[in-house]
Amino acid sequence: MHVEKLVRKTLSVKDHRVVSVKEIDGSLQIELDMIRRRCLPCSGCGERRKVRDRLPLRVWQHVPLWGIPVTLHYRPRRVCCPTCGVVVEQVPWSQGKSPLTVPLIVMLATWTRLLAVDVVARLFGVHWNTVYAAMKAAVEHGLGHREKGTVLHIGIDEISRRKGHIYHTQVYDLDHKVLLWSGEGRSEETLRRFFEEYGKANLAQVTAVCCDMWEPYTKVIAELLPDALLVFDKFHLIRHLHKAVDEVRRQEAAGHRKKGITLLKGERYLFLKNQENLTDKQQRTLSFLNRFNLDITKAWLLKEEFRLVWLCKTGKQARRFLHDWFRKVRYSRLEPLKKFVKLVKNHIDGILAWFETKISNGIAEALNNTAKAISRRSRGFRTPDAFSTVLMHCMGGLQLPHTVHKFL
Ligand SMILES: [Zn+2]
Repeated sequence: MHVEKLVRKTLSVKDHRVVSVKEIDGSLQIELDMIRRRCLPCSGCGERRKVRDRLPLRVWQHVPLWGIPVTLHYRPRRVCCPTCGVVVEQVPWSQGKSPLTVPLIVMLATWTRLLAVDVVARLFGVHWNTVYAAMKAAVEHGLGHREKGTVLHIGIDEISRRKGHIYHTQVYDLDHKVLLWSGEGRSEETLRRFFEEYGKANLAQVTAVCCDMWEPYTKVIAELLPDALLVFDKFHLIRHLHKAVDEVRRQEAAGHRKKGITLLKGERYLFLKNQENLTDKQQRTLSFLNRFNLDITKAWLLKEEFRLVWLCKTGKQARRFLHDWFRKVRYSRLEPLKKFVKLVKNHIDGILAWFETKISNGIAEALNNTAKAISRRSRGFRTPDAFSTVLMHCMGGLQLPHTVHKFL
């Protein structure tokens, strides 16, 4: 097969031909031209229109051949279109103003779904910026072609970048298990940006939103999706409870330390684990500690009991169960748990809403772990845009541009 034929085939061009293939400074320069006396598709409407004139030469970087860099050289034509005016033709291998050909964008973007940007750059002997540009172009294409208006359940969560110093708000489609949007920050303004960029009209179908008891989020949701059911995520709720239990342990351990006893040191996870997950040794430690009538064992028992709320059949039953539990906490006189009760009471409707839809951010949690793995393999991202782009690329379920040749 000649290089000409290979290029024609991978580009799937019908109106253009390869004029020459030159090897200059170790790279292949492929010159293309249109086939004479043809009408070309208009970039505005796609209809074939008469050619008017030529634009200056443009150069595209193409898929390397056996490690040899390949560039395409072509002067795009302008066509006279009765609907669009004088516009540039639809160059079949080009996407917008990108200096990369569509096959190169697709190839690099395919690999960046699996590997870090710098690894892909090394693998194909291109610059980091080229790979990043390809990924960005692929995401732009995907965002432009994604089907909207199909989201029923939204999950909002946050992850941190740069060792926990910078937060990113993640918005997930809980049914399709894809990332809808990712943006820096976790304020009201951050979530507003999502509604703006995704389009509020495209979220008209949303019936329920799941998130943490975080006021900036709940405020925006109540305002912009007033008809959707707000469900507080049960995993976040349990995390708040764990924090309270640990606070009890720390207070008690500090009290013991003053008396010179080191009874509860280093047992943090023992009290946060579910009973059925304890090891034999932890079970024995727990039975031993139970003899001393400690605050932490009281807290642990209350925590274990709280988990039973999810077994209730209805919201009504759960409400009764919780009121009973609140009373027990009051008798326990454990301040951190009383604070937790206050939190639950203030958000009771959103917590009990779970019994109506049974959605939780369990999926979001799994997706967040994927996001963290992506961040780690890239050894962090310097800018929020780069981070959001790579996350959307790997987790957004976005379509890649169409090419004849598939790369994976
Ligand atoms: Zn047109």
